[in-house]
Amino acid sequence: MKDGGVRIGVFGGTFDPVHNGHLVLAEAARREFGLERVLFIPAAQPPHKLEEPITSFQHRSAMLELALAGRPGFVLDRMEQQRPGPSYSVDTLRELSRRLEPDQRLYFVIGSDAFLEISTWKKFTELFRYADFLVAERPDAAPGHLADFLQKIPELALAPAGEGWRHPLGGTLRSLPVNAFPVSATTIRRKVRAGEAIDDLVPAPVAAYIKEHRLYR
Ligand code: ATP
Repeated sequence: MKDGGVRIGVFGGTFDPVHNGHLVLAEAARREFGLERVLFIPAAQPPHKLEEPITSFQHRSAMLELALAGRPGFVLDRMEQQRPGPSYSVDTLRELSRRLEPDQRLYFVIGSDAFLEISTWKKFTELFRYADFLVAERPDAAPGHLADFLQKIPELALAPAGEGWRHPLGGTLRSLPVNAFPVSATTIRRKVRAGEAIDDLVPAPVAAYIKEHRLYR
Protein backbone atom coordinates (compact mmCIF):
# COMPACT_ATOMS: atom_id res chain seq x y z
CA MET A 1 0.00 0.00 0.00
CA LYS A 2 1.17 3.53 -0.77
CA ASP A 3 2.35 5.63 2.13
CA GLY A 4 -0.37 8.01 3.23
CA GLY A 5 -3.20 5.63 2.31
CA VAL A 6 -6.13 5.32 4.67
CA ARG A 7 -6.29 2.11 6.68
CA ILE A 8 -9.70 0.88 7.75
CA GLY A 9 -10.04 -1.87 10.36
CA VAL A 10 -12.77 -4.50 10.01
CA PHE A 11 -13.65 -6.27 13.24
CA GLY A 12 -16.40 -8.87 13.02
CA GLY A 13 -17.88 -11.03 15.75
CA THR A 14 -21.02 -12.22 17.42
CA PHE A 15 -20.62 -9.61 20.18
CA ASP A 16 -23.07 -11.43 22.48
CA PRO A 17 -22.26 -9.18 24.33
CA VAL A 18 -19.43 -6.82 23.36
CA HIS A 19 -16.85 -6.71 26.19
CA ASN A 20 -13.62 -4.97 27.19
CA GLY A 21 -11.49 -7.66 25.49
CA HIS A 22 -12.98 -6.62 22.13
CA LEU A 23 -12.28 -2.94 22.85
CA VAL A 24 -8.69 -3.63 23.94
CA LEU A 25 -8.04 -5.63 20.77
CA ALA A 26 -9.53 -2.97 18.48
CA GLU A 27 -7.61 -0.20 20.22
CA ALA A 28 -4.31 -2.09 19.91
CA ALA A 29 -4.92 -2.59 16.18
CA ARG A 30 -5.83 1.07 15.71
CA ARG A 31 -2.74 2.28 17.54
CA GLU A 32 -0.16 -0.22 16.26
CA PHE A 33 -1.19 -0.01 12.60
CA GLY A 34 -2.45 3.58 12.42
CA LEU A 35 -6.00 2.60 11.44
CA GLU A 36 -8.11 5.63 10.65
CA ARG A 37 -11.19 3.82 11.97
CA VAL A 38 -12.31 0.38 13.03
CA LEU A 39 -15.68 -0.91 11.80
CA PHE A 40 -17.34 -3.22 14.33
CA ILE A 41 -19.52 -5.56 12.30
CA PRO A 42 -21.88 -7.77 14.29
CA ALA A 43 -22.81 -11.02 12.53
CA ALA A 44 -26.52 -11.30 11.79
CA GLN A 45 -26.30 -15.11 11.65
CA PRO A 46 -22.83 -16.35 12.71
CA PRO A 47 -22.20 -19.41 10.49
CA HIS A 48 -20.45 -21.32 13.30
CA LYS A 49 -23.29 -20.69 15.76
CA LEU A 50 -26.32 -21.63 13.65
CA GLU A 51 -27.30 -24.36 16.13
CA GLU A 52 -26.96 -22.17 19.24
CA PRO A 53 -29.48 -19.64 20.46
CA ILE A 54 -28.00 -16.16 20.22
CA THR A 55 -29.32 -12.82 21.37
CA SER A 56 -31.21 -10.80 18.76
CA PHE A 57 -29.25 -8.64 16.34
CA GLN A 58 -31.10 -5.60 17.71
CA HIS A 59 -29.88 -6.18 21.28
CA ARG A 60 -26.33 -7.05 20.24
CA SER A 61 -26.00 -3.99 18.04
CA ALA A 62 -27.64 -1.74 20.65
CA MET A 63 -24.98 -2.85 23.16
CA LEU A 64 -22.24 -2.20 20.60
CA GLU A 65 -23.63 1.25 19.97
CA LEU A 66 -23.44 2.01 23.70
CA ALA A 67 -19.91 0.58 23.98
CA LEU A 68 -18.59 2.58 21.03
CA ALA A 69 -20.25 5.91 21.89
CA GLY A 70 -17.64 8.57 22.62
CA ARG A 71 -14.78 6.49 21.20
CA PRO A 72 -13.62 8.33 18.10
CA GLY A 73 -12.50 5.95 15.37
CA PHE A 74 -14.75 3.09 16.48
CA VAL A 75 -17.80 2.73 14.25
CA LEU A 76 -20.75 0.33 14.35
CA ASP A 77 -21.66 -1.06 10.92
CA ARG A 78 -24.90 -3.04 10.66
CA MET A 79 -24.27 -4.17 7.06
CA GLU A 80 -24.59 -7.91 7.80
CA GLN A 81 -28.20 -7.40 8.85
CA GLN A 82 -29.06 -6.60 5.21
CA ARG A 83 -27.92 -9.95 3.82
CA PRO A 84 -30.11 -13.04 4.08
CA GLY A 85 -28.58 -16.31 5.29
CA PRO A 86 -25.40 -16.90 7.30
CA SER A 87 -23.01 -13.95 7.61
CA TYR A 88 -19.82 -14.97 5.82
CA SER A 89 -16.77 -12.73 6.20
CA VAL A 90 -15.81 -13.18 2.56
CA ASP A 91 -19.13 -11.61 1.48
CA THR A 92 -18.67 -8.75 3.94
CA LEU A 93 -15.12 -8.01 2.80
CA ARG A 94 -16.12 -8.16 -0.87
CA GLU A 95 -18.92 -5.69 -0.24
CA LEU A 96 -16.70 -3.38 1.81
CA SER A 97 -13.92 -3.46 -0.76
CA ARG A 98 -16.37 -2.29 -3.43
CA ARG A 99 -17.13 0.77 -1.33
CA LEU A 100 -13.47 1.77 -0.88
CA GLU A 101 -11.86 4.90 -2.25
CA PRO A 102 -8.69 4.21 -4.28
CA ASP A 103 -6.36 5.19 -1.41
CA GLN A 104 -8.15 3.06 1.21
CA ARG A 105 -7.20 -0.44 2.36
CA LEU A 106 -9.00 -2.93 4.64
CA TYR A 107 -7.37 -4.52 7.70
CA PHE A 108 -9.21 -7.55 9.04
CA VAL A 109 -8.71 -7.66 12.81
CA ILE A 110 -9.10 -11.04 14.46
CA GLY A 111 -8.11 -12.84 17.66
CA SER A 112 -5.83 -15.84 17.26
CA ASP A 113 -8.51 -18.18 18.73
CA ALA A 114 -10.88 -17.26 15.91
CA PHE A 115 -8.10 -17.28 13.33
CA LEU A 116 -7.22 -20.88 14.22
CA GLU A 117 -10.61 -21.89 12.78
CA ILE A 118 -10.10 -20.09 9.49
CA SER A 119 -9.83 -23.18 7.33
CA THR A 120 -13.51 -23.93 8.17
CA TRP A 121 -14.66 -20.56 6.77
CA LYS A 122 -16.37 -20.14 3.40
CA LYS A 123 -13.79 -19.39 0.66
CA PHE A 124 -11.19 -18.46 3.24
CA THR A 125 -8.30 -17.91 0.85
CA GLU A 126 -10.44 -15.31 -0.96
CA LEU A 127 -10.31 -13.15 2.15
CA PHE A 128 -6.72 -12.27 1.22
CA ARG A 129 -7.94 -10.76 -2.03
CA TYR A 130 -9.74 -8.04 -0.12
CA ALA A 131 -7.83 -7.33 3.09
CA ASP A 132 -4.67 -7.55 5.12
CA PHE A 133 -4.95 -9.59 8.31
CA LEU A 134 -3.95 -8.47 11.80
CA VAL A 135 -3.96 -11.51 14.08
CA ALA A 136 -3.91 -10.71 17.79
CA GLU A 137 -1.40 -12.70 19.74
CA ARG A 138 -0.86 -12.50 23.45
CA PRO A 139 2.56 -10.99 24.21
CA ASP A 140 3.40 -14.18 26.11
CA ALA A 141 2.60 -16.43 23.12
CA ALA A 142 5.52 -18.73 22.35
CA PRO A 143 7.82 -17.28 19.68
CA GLY A 144 7.00 -18.84 16.34
CA HIS A 145 3.48 -19.82 17.50
CA LEU A 146 1.75 -18.12 14.56
CA ALA A 147 4.38 -19.29 12.07
CA ASP A 148 3.92 -22.90 13.24
CA PHE A 149 0.19 -22.63 12.80
CA LEU A 150 0.43 -21.11 9.31
CA GLN A 151 2.67 -23.94 8.19
CA LYS A 152 0.04 -26.44 9.25
CA ILE A 153 -2.47 -24.96 6.77
CA PRO A 154 -0.71 -25.15 3.41
CA GLU A 155 -3.96 -24.16 1.61
CA LEU A 156 -3.43 -20.69 3.05
CA ALA A 157 -0.32 -20.40 0.85
CA LEU A 158 1.20 -17.63 2.93
CA ALA A 159 4.87 -16.94 2.32
CA PRO A 160 7.12 -15.04 4.75
CA ALA A 161 7.47 -11.41 3.63
CA GLY A 162 8.90 -8.47 5.55
CA GLU A 163 7.59 -8.51 9.10
CA GLY A 164 4.80 -10.95 8.30
CA TRP A 165 3.47 -13.08 5.47
CA ARG A 166 1.98 -12.47 2.04
CA HIS A 167 -0.73 -14.36 0.15
CA PRO A 168 -0.56 -14.82 -3.64
CA LEU A 169 -3.86 -12.87 -3.89
CA GLY A 170 -2.10 -9.81 -2.46
CA GLY A 171 -3.20 -9.66 1.18
CA THR A 172 -0.65 -9.77 3.97
CA LEU A 173 -0.84 -11.17 7.49
CA ARG A 174 0.82 -9.56 10.50
CA SER A 175 0.91 -10.48 14.15
CA LEU A 176 -0.62 -7.94 16.50
CA PRO A 177 0.75 -8.17 20.05
CA VAL A 178 -2.00 -7.44 22.56
CA ASN A 179 -1.97 -7.40 26.30
CA ALA A 180 -4.79 -9.88 26.68
CA PHE A 181 -7.85 -8.78 28.59
CA PRO A 182 -8.90 -12.21 29.80
CA VAL A 183 -12.64 -12.30 29.19
CA SER A 184 -15.02 -13.92 26.73
CA ALA A 185 -18.68 -13.31 25.99
CA THR A 186 -19.33 -16.85 27.22
CA THR A 187 -17.93 -15.92 30.65
CA ILE A 188 -20.11 -12.82 30.78
CA ARG A 189 -23.29 -14.73 29.92
CA ARG A 190 -22.43 -17.33 32.57
CA LYS A 191 -21.74 -14.68 35.22
CA VAL A 192 -25.00 -12.85 34.55
CA ARG A 193 -26.92 -16.12 34.82
CA ALA A 194 -25.16 -16.82 38.13
CA GLY A 195 -25.98 -13.33 39.42
CA GLU A 196 -22.30 -12.29 39.52
CA ALA A 197 -21.01 -8.78 38.79
CA ILE A 198 -19.71 -7.98 35.31
CA ASP A 199 -18.89 -4.31 35.91
CA ASP A 200 -15.15 -4.73 35.34
CA LEU A 201 -15.66 -6.71 32.13
CA VAL A 202 -17.95 -4.54 29.99
CA PRO A 203 -18.46 -0.77 29.64
CA ALA A 204 -20.92 0.55 32.26
CA PRO A 205 -23.74 1.36 29.77
CA VAL A 206 -23.55 -2.22 28.47
CA ALA A 207 -23.88 -3.63 31.98
CA ALA A 208 -26.89 -1.35 32.54
CA TYR A 209 -28.48 -2.44 29.24
CA ILE A 210 -28.09 -6.13 30.11
CA LYS A 211 -29.76 -5.49 33.44
CA GLU A 212 -32.56 -3.37 32.05
CA HIS A 213 -33.45 -5.87 29.32
CA ARG A 214 -32.89 -8.90 31.54
CA LEU A 215 -30.54 -10.50 29.01
CA TYR A 216 -28.68 -13.77 29.69
CA ARG A 217 -30.95 -14.84 32.57
P1 ATP B 1 -17.93 -16.27 22.77
O1 ATP B 1 -17.37 -16.48 24.15
O2 ATP B 1 -19.43 -16.15 22.76
O3 ATP B 1 -17.41 -17.25 21.74
P2 ATP B 1 -16.10 -14.03 22.26
O4 ATP B 1 -15.90 -13.31 23.54
O5 ATP B 1 -14.96 -14.90 21.76
O6 ATP B 1 -17.48 -14.81 22.28
P3 ATP B 1 -16.72 -13.04 19.60
O7 ATP B 1 -17.76 -12.03 19.28
O8 ATP B 1 -16.96 -14.43 19.19
O9 ATP B 1 -16.46 -12.92 21.19
O10 ATP B 1 -15.29 -12.57 19.10
C1 ATP B 1 -15.05 -11.57 18.15
C2 ATP B 1 -13.56 -11.41 17.99
O11 ATP B 1 -12.99 -10.92 19.22
C3 ATP B 1 -12.77 -12.69 17.66
O12 ATP B 1 -11.81 -12.36 16.66
C4 ATP B 1 -12.11 -13.06 18.97
O13 ATP B 1 -10.89 -13.74 18.74
C5 ATP B 1 -11.86 -11.69 19.58
N1 ATP B 1 -11.83 -11.71 21.07
C6 ATP B 1 -12.77 -12.18 21.89
N2 ATP B 1 -12.41 -12.02 23.20
C7 ATP B 1 -11.19 -11.42 23.18
C8 ATP B 1 -10.27 -10.98 24.20
N3 ATP B 1 -10.53 -11.14 25.51
N4 ATP B 1 -9.12 -10.40 23.83
C9 ATP B 1 -8.83 -10.25 22.50
N5 ATP B 1 -9.65 -10.64 21.49
C10 ATP B 1 -10.81 -11.22 21.81
